[in-house]
Amino acid sequence: MADLIQELVSALRCLPGVGPKSGQRMAYHLLERDRGGARRLSEALLAAVERIGHCRHCRTLCQDDACSLCSDQRRDATQLCIVETPSDIHALEQAGGYRGHYFVLMGHLSPLDGIGPEELGLDTLQTRFDQGIVSEVILATNPTVEGEATAHYIAGMAQDAGLRATRIAYGVPFGGELEYMDAGTLTHALSGRRNVDV
Ligand code: ZN
Repeated sequence: MADLIQELVSALRCLPGVGPKSGQRMAYHLLERDRGGARRLSEALLAAVERIGHCRHCRTLCQDDACSLCSDQRRDATQLCIVETPSDIHALEQAGGYRGHYFVLMGHLSPLDGIGPEELGLDTLQTRFDQGIVSEVILATNPTVEGEATAHYIAGMAQDAGLRATRIAYGVPFGGELEYMDAGTLTHALSGRRNVDV
């Protein structure tokens, strides 16, 4: 049955940071010591893959038509914070202090990889801009070359729609990723945001 084990190891390698050795360690751990955990993992994975889609308002991952943040009437609908990934929402929510809405790009502009405005859902974002509810667009894409280019592009869209565009402040280290920043840095970055002129 060596091939089943091999298949498990190679399946585990789809996880970020898992190479042949760590994949093998995980596979043996599950089979030798935690078959209950393995079964739970496989069921949770299958259920998540089958039932989790995207929020129709902000595109974050969620199992309902609209996510809990978009459905929360107490949040400020005039502020829209643009992030690259659902993990960024999590990081900003953990940091606290922001009570507006989010929009998740699920990536950044990357023409060489074929990721353009359409792949980032910018048509949906444009519709959101045109609804006349949002007044400030907070660009919280990562401070990387691609994140900056994406922020610049969306700032242009916001300005064309007559909206204020702000960029989170650079206590955030260039090249960093939001989800790995501590809460203090993130709160500071958000409160120190500046207007963007395109
Ligand atoms: Zn949502």
